[in-house]
Amino acid sequence: MKEYDVIIVGSGPAGYTAGIYATRFNMKTLLIGKESGGQVSESYRIENYPGLSMTNGMDLVTKFKEHAESLGVKTIEFLEVTEVKKTENGFNVKTDEATYFGRTLIFATGAKKRKLGLLNEDRFRGKGVSYCATCDGAFFIDKIVGVIGGGDSAVASALLLSEYAKKVYLIYRRKKDKMRAMPVWIERAENNEKVEMIFESVPKELKGEEKLESVVFDQNGKNIEIKLDGLFIEIGTVPESELAKKLGVSVNEKGYIKVNEDMSTDVPGIFAAGDVTTGSNMLAQIVTACAEGAIAAESAYKYLKKEEYHENL
Ligand code: NDP
Repeated sequence: MKEYDVIIVGSGPAGYTAGIYATRFNMKTLLIGKESGGQVSESYRIENYPGLSMTNGMDLVTKFKEHAESLGVKTIEFLEVTEVKKTENGFNVKTDEATYFGRTLIFATGAKKRKLGLLNEDRFRGKGVSYCATCDGAFFIDKIVGVIGGGDSAVASALLLSEYAKKVYLIYRRKKDKMRAMPVWIERAENNEKVEMIFESVPKELKGEEKLESVVFDQNGKNIEIKLDGLFIEIGTVPESELAKKLGVSVNEKGYIKVNEDMSTDVPGIFAAGDVTTGSNMLAQIVTACAEGAIAAESAYKYLKKEEYHENL
């Protein structure tokens, strides 16, 4: 079994940054990710990562990956970690192809898109229902689409979709002043003639025969039906903390891994960073995920140093 000082699970900004820092502490580092780049690879426009006034998610994570690999991080992508078991002096990390040993672990597993939970949502996935405007926007040239949500993801998706579709409804369940998106995004949506914002509307039903044809909303107790070719659901995320939970790591009531200031969890040798941690409840940005990754790597290094010191006493 191949052995590492640290195994990082997750290949987003937090994971790659943890890898970059870990190798600079001379730690033998393995990074395993089930995709390349995580959620950020779906961002079509990033304007707030310092030093890069404009980039996109795919370009940025490609740079993160190249940087990490150039420093010696062993990366395995498109492979899922299926099980992690605690051993006497570390952790056995299992994938479908092999089992690796890590003296420490960093969970940078991120978060996945939340679903509406409506009937037909799964049936119409890929038949009108989508969770990624960057991936699927181009299928809706000159069509009518809707985006559900009031955060940055929803507004950014509506703006991207306006480059393809002839009409974009941005549908939010509360009043405009409750929207979570940054004012700069909201302003751009308001000034975009293809985008129409609809407020106080809660999605109720997805209608159609073979594919999505319309969506019914409850607007202050009244049903409204909007005919659509596509519906993009951007209603936030759910943390991917299952593996950590199985190891006994504490999570908060929403499932985010509880971390201390040094990104340690309550299980010795396990650290966490990025969107999967309670830190992301404060601010979930690429720059904060990177910062958490760097801290987690340094803390894993200090943890190993302390262990070695005790072993040599
Ligand atoms: P958020 O959690 O910020 O927003 C989710 C939105 O979906 C809220 O407006 C919420 O409504 C709404 N919602 C939740 N559940 C439902 C439901 N069942 N039915 C209808 N509406 C629902 O998620 P985002 O994905 O937008 O953003 C996540 C994080 O990523 C944020 O920190 C954001 O800043 C960041 N991000 C940054 C970007 C950038 O800077 N370029 C781009 C994209 C994301 P309500 O407000 O009523 O709770």
